[in-house]
Amino acid sequence: MLNNQGRPTQAGEAHGLARETFTGNRALEIDEALIFDQGGFDRTGVDIDEPEEFADRLGGLARKNRADLPGLAEPQAVRHYVRLSRKNYSIDAGLFPLGSCTMKHNPRLNEKMARLPGFADVHPLQPQSTVQGALALMQELSRWLLSSTGMEAVALSPKAGAHGELCGMMAIKAAIVSRGEQETRKTVLVPDSAHGTNPATAALIGFEVESVPAGEDGLVHPAAVREKLGPHVAAIMLTNPNTCGLFEREISEIADAVHQAGGYFYCDGANFNAIVGVARPGDLGVDAMHINLHKTFSTPHGGGGPGSGPVVLSERLAAFAPVPFLRQKDGALTLVEDTEGSQAFGRMTAFHGQMGMYVRALSYMLSHGGDGLRQASQDAVLNANYVRAGLSDLFSQPFGDRPCMHEVLFDESWLKGTDVTTLDFAKALIDEGYHPMTVYFPLVVKGAMLIEPTESESKASLDLFIMAMRDLALRALRGEKERFATAPRFAPRARLDETRAARSPVLKWTARAPVAEAAE
Ligand SMILES: *Cc1c(COP(=O)(O)O)cnc(C)c1O
Repeated sequence: MLNNQGRPTQAGEAHGLARETFTGNRALEIDEALIFDQGGFDRTGVDIDEPEEFADRLGGLARKNRADLPGLAEPQAVRHYVRLSRKNYSIDAGLFPLGSCTMKHNPRLNEKMARLPGFADVHPLQPQSTVQGALALMQELSRWLLSSTGMEAVALSPKAGAHGELCGMMAIKAAIVSRGEQETRKTVLVPDSAHGTNPATAALIGFEVESVPAGEDGLVHPAAVREKLGPHVAAIMLTNPNTCGLFEREISEIADAVHQAGGYFYCDGANFNAIVGVARPGDLGVDAMHINLHKTFSTPHGGGGPGSGPVVLSERLAAFAPVPFLRQKDGALTLVEDTEGSQAFGRMTAFHGQMGMYVRALSYMLSHGGDGLRQASQDAVLNANYVRAGLSDLFSQPFGDRPCMHEVLFDESWLKGTDVTTLDFAKALIDEGYHPMTVYFPLVVKGAMLIEPTESESKASLDLFIMAMRDLALRALRGEKERFATAPRFAPRARLDETRAARSPVLKWTARAPVAEAAE
């Protein structure tokens, strides 16, 4: 069995479909060998003359062996990457119900604005007098972030949510050092439902992490926090709405208790999409919060690419905000880069952060307006509750059947006795053409399925998703466990042996047998 490149195919065989076509391809689903298996190392895709003799200035460090880069002609290389890109699932391809991640539509208007030469072509080392427009955009974005959160200062430069957490916690640490309490206040409280980045961030900068149990109702209660408070506590890190999709109703009381004990309140703002325009974290007693522009404000989620996670700070922490920050001076905007003469704790990144993301986020804000942002939050909550209502007679909810915020959480107790697990169910959803929901998070709920449809799905799209979920659920309950155990059957690669993949991962390509042998 050969594919288009004359290489043995393996994809189709795994689900027993390979024999149906000569190539192993299935219409638009083209089986793709690794680029190393396609190209020859003795070939090259570019027409450059052999370099003439030249004096090498690498002091004898020049490579002696071949780099072993695959050599492909341009059309082959283009096809390879186009085919790979078609295997991607994305928000532009369909509903992406990944809870906590807020995979909402990325408006094309944002993209158009971000490509304007005045934003796209500026260089961070340009004299500031030549980029006043870009600085004004950063100031306007800051104004929106501050007014929607009710906070005092903002650090725009962090490059992701987790990086923003680090920034906020470093501001808290700087505040504690300025009070001379760095030797005593060493503990950070984190509820057991928190995202893993919260305890990781606290530990990374030397805090000890102590967990706070959530109540039977999935919420953190002031009594549980008070029990842990004392002069050793630097801060609490809390998510609101929390990772169970519930609003922490006693958040103000928790904030007061933490403040009275001399600690700071860090709020993980990943779920801000549920409350923008409805509640301001500053009014709830929050001292620091990151905002994932790629979740709440519709910028693309980068696969490790250029992201942005600005951090807003309360009056108590504003002085410790990192450089650079903006100042208006003599009618011009200045990006202050020097920590001299301020309490700024330092800096998080080279330069100012991700201009392209600032432009996209502000485009989203300006095109929606304050009322439109509020509507988006309300619709996000409505859509999650629509999914909840459409599924709650079949799927079990860990904290009872009650309204959720922007995401709905199910557990796997409804699957009891079916031999189908949350993982199997998620894999079967792939065969239905959906990216699975978030599974096994939050950790406090056994076999969690966390679904966040976001506001940008239409009713028709939600209805189809609900029907697909219901159909799968009924099949699981009817005992069709084979369908789940073997899923996904229609994806380019079938079910992995996850234990083996984790225990003995193959991370390096090694040459296969020559084609002639393999084809026989
Ligand atoms: C997404 C998320 C984070 C981390 O944000 P990144 O931008 O992915 O670094 C932190 N906490 C929660 C609850 C999240 O959902």
